[in-house]
Amino acid sequence: MNLKKSFSAMMAATGLTVTMAAQADDIGNSFNRQGLSDRLHASCAVQEAQRERLVRKLPAGTDPAPAFRNKGITFVIESPHFDQNMKADADVLFAKIPEHTKSLAFNEGGVFVWSRYGLAESLPSRKNNINGYIIPGLYLPDQKRLYLTFMLAGLDRKFYAEPARRTRIANHEAGHMMDDMLGNYSHYKGRQQADGRLTDRRDYKDALNRDTKRMRQQNTDVTAFSYYAAGSIGGDHNDQQRLRREVFAELWAESSGYGGSGLSKHYPDTYSLVKGFYDHLADTYKASDPRCVYKKDGSAVPVATSKHVLDL
Ligand SMILES: [Zn+2]
Repeated sequence: MNLKKSFSAMMAATGLTVTMAAQADDIGNSFNRQGLSDRLHASCAVQEAQRERLVRKLPAGTDPAPAFRNKGITFVIESPHFDQNMKADADVLFAKIPEHTKSLAFNEGGVFVWSRYGLAESLPSRKNNINGYIIPGLYLPDQKRLYLTFMLAGLDRKFYAEPARRTRIANHEAGHMMDDMLGNYSHYKGRQQADGRLTDRRDYKDALNRDTKRMRQQNTDVTAFSYYAAGSIGGDHNDQQRLRREVFAELWAESSGYGGSGLSKHYPDTYSLVKGFYDHLADTYKASDPRCVYKKDGSAVPVATSKHVLDL
């Protein structure tokens, strides 16, 4: 690389850094910084109390199945049919959900539910529906619960495990959860009321529309990612809200380091914003101690204490 080239490369890189910093600032200012920081940096005991207040007490009914009802503040509920390998896999999977995602989920009363024999095992209302056996995961906002199954059924009605996509799917569903929960702290354009969902923000809608328009102009073949594309350009979704949420969840998974579908290539503007939300949560979480280890039983243990225990 000659001097002139390296100089312009340096300038380009600097320009990019400045733009990114400005965007990070803009995004940070569109959130209730103090509220989010207060939550994530409260003592572990206070975080537990907050969780206890916000975990949904689900009325007895068809869903969820008795084995999947909440026991107090339980954070992770596993199928009683898990064998030892699945229990170990479940722990590995839980470790692959970023700490800041877990921290907000914990504080907002979120619950992770792992079933073995399809979602119908934990949600019996789906037992008579093929969807109860072929859909790998979902997030139910009214319950604040993320459901994921370790096995799916084939057309032969036999169950098979599909570990390859599991981490990505867990982080995709966690994306739906964060769209909902981080939205509680989003006050886009300084509004008094929280936005509800990040995917309802004007800047998010605009970014997604820009990317869709670009794909239309470039005649992009969306066959390989039709689940994440608008009906107007040959994708699956005519419902704009559904499209916004699915694209967000997948780009969140990609921000978490589990891309798979490489969707950011097609949604560069949308990805930049989702990554901005992701980084804002991560930066807030990391900004100060004390931090807690969030246990499956719903307890939060100060990091120092758990390290000490491990040292013994
Ligand atoms: Zn989804």
